[in-house]
Amino acid sequence: MNIVRVALDVPVPRLFDYLAPDSAESDIGRRVTVPFGTGSRTGIIIELATASEQPGGKLKTVTAILRDMSVLPPQWLALCEFCARYYQTPLGAVTSFALPPMLRRGKLPRMKKVAVAVPSAPTPGTVGTPALPRLMAAQQIAVDAIAGVAGFHALLLHGVTGSGKTEVYLRAIDAVLTRGGQALMLVPEIALTPQLEGRVAARFPAAHIVCANSGMADAARARGFIEALDGRAEIVLGTRLAVFMPMPRLQLIIVDEEHDASFKQQEGLRYSARDVAVWRARQLNIPIVLGSATPSLESFHHASSGRYQMLELPQRAVAEAMPVVRIIDTRREKLQEGLSAALLKGLQQRLDRGEQSLVFLNRRGYAPVLACPPCGWISRCQRCAANLVLHLADQRLRCHHCGFEARVPRACPDCGNVDLLPFGRGTQRLESMLVERFPDARVLRIDRDSASTPKKWQALLALIHAGAADILVGTQMLAKGHDFPLLTLVGAVGADAALFAADFRAPERLFAQLMQVGGRSGRADLPGEVLIQTEYPDHPLYQALVEHDYVRFARAQLDERRIAGFPPFSFQAMLRAEARTMEQSLAFLAAARSTAEALAAGITLYDPVPMRLQRLMTLERGQLLVESLSRPALQAFLAKWMEQLYVLKMPGGLRWHLDVDPLEF
Ligand code: ADP
Ligand code: ZN
Ligand code: ZN
Repeated sequence: MNIVRVALDVPVPRLFDYLAPDSAESDIGRRVTVPFGTGSRTGIIIELATASEQPGGKLKTVTAILRDMSVLPPQWLALCEFCARYYQTPLGAVTSFALPPMLRRGKLPRMKKVAVAVPSAPTPGTVGTPALPRLMAAQQIAVDAIAGVAGFHALLLHGVTGSGKTEVYLRAIDAVLTRGGQALMLVPEIALTPQLEGRVAARFPAAHIVCANSGMADAARARGFIEALDGRAEIVLGTRLAVFMPMPRLQLIIVDEEHDASFKQQEGLRYSARDVAVWRARQLNIPIVLGSATPSLESFHHASSGRYQMLELPQRAVAEAMPVVRIIDTRREKLQEGLSAALLKGLQQRLDRGEQSLVFLNRRGYAPVLACPPCGWISRCQRCAANLVLHLADQRLRCHHCGFEARVPRACPDCGNVDLLPFGRGTQRLESMLVERFPDARVLRIDRDSASTPKKWQALLALIHAGAADILVGTQMLAKGHDFPLLTLVGAVGADAALFAADFRAPERLFAQLMQVGGRSGRADLPGEVLIQTEYPDHPLYQALVEHDYVRFARAQLDERRIAGFPPFSFQAMLRAEARTMEQSLAFLAAARSTAEALAAGITLYDPVPMRLQRLMTLERGQLLVESLSRPALQAFLAKWMEQLYVLKMPGGLRWHLDVDPLEF
């Protein structure tokens, strides 16, 4: 009997057997359409078998094995199997996620005509390109180190914005293309891919470059996948999902801004593309370069302990100096709409000189809440345990968690008072204050509201580059990977909140953000200045920023984490549950905890607690943290625990998921 074992995207952690009379060994890794329930599904053939142990009697027969696309190679299947194991997710859910939607549905894109004249030699990356900059000594060392790697090796390229990391990546890619290999480069944001694509395309005009991100049209994404699979794509650039691009001659992986939280997916398959990329490099026995101005503490720890090789780029390639960072003590100052005299003066100076400034506030909207002081009413989301944020620009109240929105009421819904007051400050409020204060200045706000589509975002960037804005007001959106040649002043306001946040990773994120946003200033030949407003001027985090001393900051943080037993000194997983009531969620987690007790040698089980955002979309949410000093012990425990969780009794409407290496608490 010819039987195929198929990975299907259903929430059951096993394969499904089907009869396939015409199947052969060469069909492993092919897509297959099968009857399932009353409908039909497309999955991937993982194994062949001659007998089935599947419960439920008679096997159904496959509808069709799709042989119109190249087979997904064993290495790709192994990558998916690793993710299924490591993230405790059914294999079918992983393979389905890893395929572009069109291919997942069993379709194929119309392919562009392939030029018949395949170049006989590998693409000579540097031929016909403009003269390359002479590498600085530190860059040369990095390039040589990467070139000298045989087999798996992880290199951590640490260098501030403008220190020439991208130049190092390009040289390393060049070497790979010359050998006829493929290179994969991951970046955190969709918004960064066009810019990078331009730079890569300019360097390698003859190379076939493919982009991969979730913003692409279905057919284009599927086409890129097939070009990578068939080995035609030489360079793949993309966001986290690009880590799943099949590349038969992959010889180098680069993860730029490797510390960025967006490499971790927060729903469905909760994978970290950086970690998966490292696993993939090990699997293929190739080098991986992780680059950042502020490496994640995990990666920095690996580099300090010798598992990764640290490569430092201590100098900027173009601008002479790093921006001067100054701490503005706001404890004794009466701020004007949140801005200190020093920052206002700095803004005025830049206006006088025709230079650009940026005020960084990581909170969008006009004000975090609208309130009625006489009766105590505040704008709250009906579905979440969160306030509705006031957006004056379009007169709406919005929940930033679930998307609920309503018109701004004319009067208090409880008592009829018409004098409702906005409390706190967001980017819109800063913007209107700056417009009032500097009437001749062109103020431009950049956040997820004003740059809601890639098109709007590109238009805003063009305005900034054309010098059509004097003062930029923005969230961290502005911090990532853009050169603003006229920008010489960055002011950071409202940063203190992150110093004392409940999440132990908040300081790490704040440091990275401030370094990054500061790095926007003073790139060309204009020196930059960064002013940080704070009520904690002596805080070590700010002091390290003044010194541009990431290493000092990282060591201090790692010391704290070692003492507290937090990652990277321990390994964690989070079980989360959501239900109609908090009692139901916590009861489920308590039951899950009891089943864990018997299995949990070497595992710390914490108590189930409500999540920080307790209610989201009317569901009450709880979480249970499990932790171990050993990753293998945690992995072994999770595998056994999951089997029990799948059969645990639960009330109707309850949903749960496991998040391995959670980033959010
Ligand atoms: P990063 O990726 O670290 O931000 P880049 O590689 O983008 O840095 O380099 C910053 C700028 O300096 C770019 O304009 C780049 O072309 C230029 N650059 C990089 N390396 C050199 C070099 N060795 N000599 C001259 N210019 C360089
Ligand atoms: Zn809400
Ligand atoms: Zn009221």
